[in-house]
Amino acid sequence: MGRKKNQEEGSRAADGGGRYDFGVVSLATRKSMQGNKRRDTSPEMKVRRMLREMGFTGYRVDWAKAPGRPDVAFVGRKIAIEVRGCFWHRCPTCQLSVPKKNVEYWEAKFARNVERDERNLVALEEQGWRVLVLWEHQLRKKELPATRRLIYETVRRPDDPPYDEAFPEEA
Ligand SMILES: [Zn+2]
Repeated sequence: MGRKKNQEEGSRAADGGGRYDFGVVSLATRKSMQGNKRRDTSPEMKVRRMLREMGFTGYRVDWAKAPGRPDVAFVGRKIAIEVRGCFWHRCPTCQLSVPKKNVEYWEAKFARNVERDERNLVALEEQGWRVLVLWEHQLRKKELPATRRLIYETVRRPDDPPYDEAFPEEA
Protein backbone atom coordinates (compact mmCIF):
# COMPACT_ATOMS: atom_id res chain seq x y z
CA MET A 1 0.00 0.00 0.00
CA GLY A 2 3.05 2.23 0.11
CA ARG A 3 2.59 3.86 -3.24
CA LYS A 4 -1.07 4.54 -2.70
CA LYS A 5 -0.21 6.34 0.48
CA ASN A 6 2.43 8.36 -1.27
CA GLN A 7 -0.09 9.33 -3.89
CA GLU A 8 -2.45 10.28 -1.13
CA GLU A 9 0.14 12.57 0.36
CA GLY A 10 1.08 13.88 -3.04
CA SER A 11 -2.46 14.82 -3.92
CA ARG A 12 -2.94 16.35 -0.53
CA ALA A 13 0.12 18.51 -1.01
CA ALA A 14 -0.96 19.45 -4.53
CA ASP A 15 -4.27 20.62 -3.18
CA GLY A 16 -2.60 22.96 -0.77
CA GLY A 17 -2.08 20.77 2.22
CA GLY A 18 -4.17 21.66 5.21
CA ARG A 19 -7.25 22.52 3.23
CA TYR A 20 -9.32 19.80 4.83
CA ASP A 21 -10.75 20.48 8.18
CA PHE A 22 -9.93 17.34 10.11
CA GLY A 23 -11.76 18.89 13.03
CA VAL A 24 -15.14 18.00 11.56
CA VAL A 25 -14.53 14.27 11.58
CA SER A 26 -14.60 11.92 14.51
CA LEU A 27 -11.52 11.08 16.50
CA ALA A 28 -11.54 7.56 15.08
CA THR A 29 -11.64 8.90 11.54
CA ARG A 30 -8.87 11.36 12.27
CA LYS A 31 -6.70 8.59 13.67
CA SER A 32 -7.44 6.60 10.55
CA MET A 33 -6.34 9.53 8.39
CA GLN A 34 -3.16 9.98 10.34
CA GLY A 35 -2.50 6.28 10.18
CA ASN A 36 -2.80 6.49 6.44
CA LYS A 37 0.32 8.61 6.21
CA ARG A 38 2.66 6.06 7.70
CA ARG A 39 4.50 3.78 5.38
CA ASP A 40 3.84 0.62 7.34
CA THR A 41 0.44 1.00 8.88
CA SER A 42 -0.36 -1.07 11.84
CA PRO A 43 -2.90 -3.33 10.03
CA GLU A 44 -0.27 -4.28 7.45
CA MET A 45 2.29 -4.94 10.14
CA LYS A 46 -0.20 -7.19 11.92
CA VAL A 47 -0.73 -9.19 8.75
CA ARG A 48 2.97 -9.60 8.23
CA ARG A 49 3.52 -10.59 11.83
CA MET A 50 0.81 -13.25 11.58
CA LEU A 51 2.37 -14.59 8.40
CA ARG A 52 5.76 -14.87 10.04
CA GLU A 53 4.30 -16.48 13.15
CA MET A 54 2.54 -19.08 11.03
CA GLY A 55 5.77 -19.85 9.20
CA PHE A 56 4.95 -18.17 5.92
CA THR A 57 8.03 -16.31 4.80
CA GLY A 58 9.41 -15.32 1.46
CA TYR A 59 6.66 -12.87 0.59
CA ARG A 60 7.36 -9.52 -0.98
CA VAL A 61 5.97 -6.26 0.31
CA ASP A 62 4.43 -3.68 -2.06
CA TRP A 63 5.34 -5.90 -5.00
CA ALA A 64 5.69 -3.42 -7.86
CA LYS A 65 5.50 -5.91 -10.71
CA ALA A 66 1.88 -6.80 -10.03
CA PRO A 67 -1.12 -4.53 -10.62
CA GLY A 68 -1.72 -2.16 -7.74
CA ARG A 69 1.43 -3.20 -5.89
CA PRO A 70 -0.18 -5.69 -3.52
CA ASP A 71 0.78 -5.18 0.11
CA VAL A 72 1.90 -8.79 0.43
CA ALA A 73 2.78 -10.99 -2.53
CA PHE A 74 3.86 -14.59 -2.65
CA VAL A 75 5.21 -14.11 -6.10
CA GLY A 76 5.95 -17.69 -7.12
CA ARG A 77 2.51 -18.94 -6.09
CA LYS A 78 0.73 -15.76 -7.17
CA ILE A 79 -1.06 -15.16 -3.91
CA ALA A 80 -1.63 -11.56 -2.90
CA ILE A 81 -2.98 -9.96 0.25
CA GLU A 82 -4.38 -6.47 0.06
CA VAL A 83 -4.99 -4.57 3.27
CA ARG A 84 -7.50 -1.78 2.90
CA GLY A 85 -8.15 1.06 5.27
CA CYS A 86 -11.87 1.18 6.07
CA PHE A 87 -12.09 4.97 5.72
CA TRP A 88 -10.11 5.58 2.53
CA HIS A 89 -11.35 2.52 0.72
CA ARG A 90 -14.98 2.74 1.89
CA CYS A 91 -15.38 -0.50 3.75
CA PRO A 92 -18.89 -1.85 3.08
CA THR A 93 -19.06 -3.26 6.60
CA CYS A 94 -18.00 -0.18 8.54
CA GLN A 95 -19.65 2.42 6.26
CA LEU A 96 -17.73 5.26 7.88
CA SER A 97 -19.26 8.68 7.37
CA VAL A 98 -18.03 11.11 4.75
CA PRO A 99 -16.62 14.35 6.20
CA LYS A 100 -19.28 17.06 6.22
CA LYS A 101 -17.18 19.73 4.55
CA ASN A 102 -16.01 19.51 0.94
CA VAL A 103 -18.40 16.65 0.37
CA GLU A 104 -17.93 16.64 -3.40
CA TYR A 105 -14.19 16.51 -3.03
CA TRP A 106 -14.35 13.58 -0.64
CA GLU A 107 -16.89 11.66 -2.64
CA ALA A 108 -14.83 12.04 -5.82
CA LYS A 109 -11.72 10.95 -4.00
CA PHE A 110 -13.41 7.94 -2.44
CA ALA A 111 -14.89 6.98 -5.79
CA ARG A 112 -11.42 7.06 -7.34
CA ASN A 113 -10.04 4.88 -4.58
CA VAL A 114 -12.83 2.34 -4.92
CA GLU A 115 -12.51 2.27 -8.70
CA ARG A 116 -8.76 1.83 -8.49
CA ASP A 117 -9.15 -1.00 -5.98
CA GLU A 118 -11.62 -2.76 -8.25
CA ARG A 119 -9.47 -2.24 -11.34
CA ASN A 120 -6.39 -3.61 -9.59
CA LEU A 121 -8.29 -6.58 -8.24
CA VAL A 122 -9.62 -7.48 -11.68
CA ALA A 123 -6.18 -7.03 -13.25
CA LEU A 124 -4.55 -9.24 -10.63
CA GLU A 125 -7.11 -11.98 -11.06
CA GLU A 126 -6.82 -11.79 -14.83
CA GLN A 127 -3.10 -12.38 -14.44
CA GLY A 128 -3.76 -15.46 -12.38
CA TRP A 129 -3.35 -14.08 -8.89
CA ARG A 130 -5.45 -15.24 -5.97
CA VAL A 131 -6.23 -12.19 -3.87
CA LEU A 132 -7.26 -11.97 -0.25
CA VAL A 133 -8.68 -8.55 0.58
CA LEU A 134 -8.48 -7.75 4.26
CA TRP A 135 -10.14 -4.71 5.74
CA GLU A 136 -8.56 -2.74 8.51
CA HIS A 137 -11.38 -3.70 10.91
CA GLN A 138 -10.48 -7.36 10.45
CA LEU A 139 -7.16 -6.63 12.14
CA ARG A 140 -8.81 -5.49 15.37
CA LYS A 141 -8.05 -7.67 18.31
CA LYS A 142 -11.51 -9.21 18.47
CA GLU A 143 -11.34 -10.19 14.81
CA LEU A 144 -7.79 -11.50 14.80
CA PRO A 145 -8.45 -15.22 15.40
CA ALA A 146 -10.86 -15.42 12.45
CA THR A 147 -8.58 -13.34 10.27
CA ARG A 148 -5.58 -15.45 11.17
CA ARG A 149 -7.43 -18.56 10.09
CA LEU A 150 -8.50 -16.86 6.86
CA ILE A 151 -4.93 -15.87 6.09
CA TYR A 152 -3.69 -19.38 6.80
CA GLU A 153 -6.28 -20.99 4.55
CA THR A 154 -5.39 -18.55 1.78
CA VAL A 155 -1.64 -18.93 1.99
CA ARG A 156 -1.17 -22.55 3.01
CA ARG A 157 0.81 -24.76 0.69
CA PRO A 158 -0.60 -28.07 -0.57
CA ASP A 159 1.38 -29.98 2.06
CA ASP A 160 0.39 -27.78 4.99
CA PRO A 161 -2.15 -29.31 7.37
CA PRO A 162 -5.57 -27.72 7.89
CA TYR A 163 -5.56 -24.85 10.35
CA ASP A 164 -7.05 -26.84 13.25
CA GLU A 165 -4.27 -29.41 12.96
CA ALA A 166 -1.56 -26.84 12.56
CA PHE A 167 -2.75 -24.82 15.55
CA PRO A 168 -4.82 -27.22 17.71
CA GLU A 169 -4.47 -24.97 20.74
CA GLU A 170 -6.55 -22.36 18.94
CA ALA A 171 -9.21 -24.61 17.53
ZN1 LIG B 1 -14.25 -1.91 7.95
